[in-house]
Amino acid sequence: MTETTHLIHTYLRSSKRFPHIWCPGCGIGILLGALIRAIDRSGYSKDDIVLISGIGCSGRLPTYVDFNTLHTTHGRALTFATGIKLAKPSLKVIVVMGDGDATAIGGNHFIHAARRNVEITTIIINNQTYGMTGGQCSPTTPFGVKTSSSPYGNLEPSFDICGLAKEAGAVFVGRSTVYHARLLEEVIRKALHKEGFSVVEVLSHCTTHFGKQTGTDSPVEMMKWQRDSAIRVEKAKELGEEELRQKVVIGVLVDRQAPTYHKEYEKLRARVSSESNAL
Ligand code: SF4
Repeated sequence: MTETTHLIHTYLRSSKRFPHIWCPGCGIGILLGALIRAIDRSGYSKDDIVLISGIGCSGRLPTYVDFNTLHTTHGRALTFATGIKLAKPSLKVIVVMGDGDATAIGGNHFIHAARRNVEITTIIINNQTYGMTGGQCSPTTPFGVKTSSSPYGNLEPSFDICGLAKEAGAVFVGRSTVYHARLLEEVIRKALHKEGFSVVEVLSHCTTHFGKQTGTDSPVEMMKWQRDSAIRVEKAKELGEEELRQKVVIGVLVDRQAPTYHKEYEKLRARVSSESNAL
């Protein structure tokens, strides 16, 4: 059996859930492949994994995989994930969201899950738009771009998701594009092994809406943009601010230690319990 056949038969709900809903050429399938490979190579059993999503094109991802899965409400995937992690800390909890789901509707949950350092592997697929609802501006849509909700050009500057995660307190922050699929798998694997709140931003492409709105309906052209815009973090350290202005830095951007919320919570429970028993 080839590795690909093994992965398909082990992790996909092939008998019930296909064909999938994603458009031909969408980048989300590449992320799904990288995620499955990273999990397989990390040695987790399927029963150890809880995969949670919110709403949007990315929200359909857990439907197709054979883990413990939840398809939750818009922007609220991290709240479900936090509850699961506190209730059963031994589980490996993974959340997949789109850029709008994570940083607009769920923006407060995102920054506070990072601040609390809840041990969740958070994957944010950033295709710079709301794909499922017709290509509206999201918090990561670049300034000036014409979309279905900004027909004369977007007036808002865009969020740097990794910068936001870093400043909010995430202990691991990484970024890749779907063009760099092997790097993506590697960054996800490192995030899965990190103790604490880890974030992987995945630059992807929505040809159906964002591509057409910005002048291309070719997934290949959009992936060439990813290839040409990305620069590895090691190389970026040698360049100045001006040289990096049009570049997207990829790789592991933050890797640090901090106490995790569920362990602090366990300590608190033990202390309160022993104090109550002493009364
Ligand atoms: Fe992918 Fe865009 Fe189609 Fe959604 S609308 S499945 S993001 S190409």
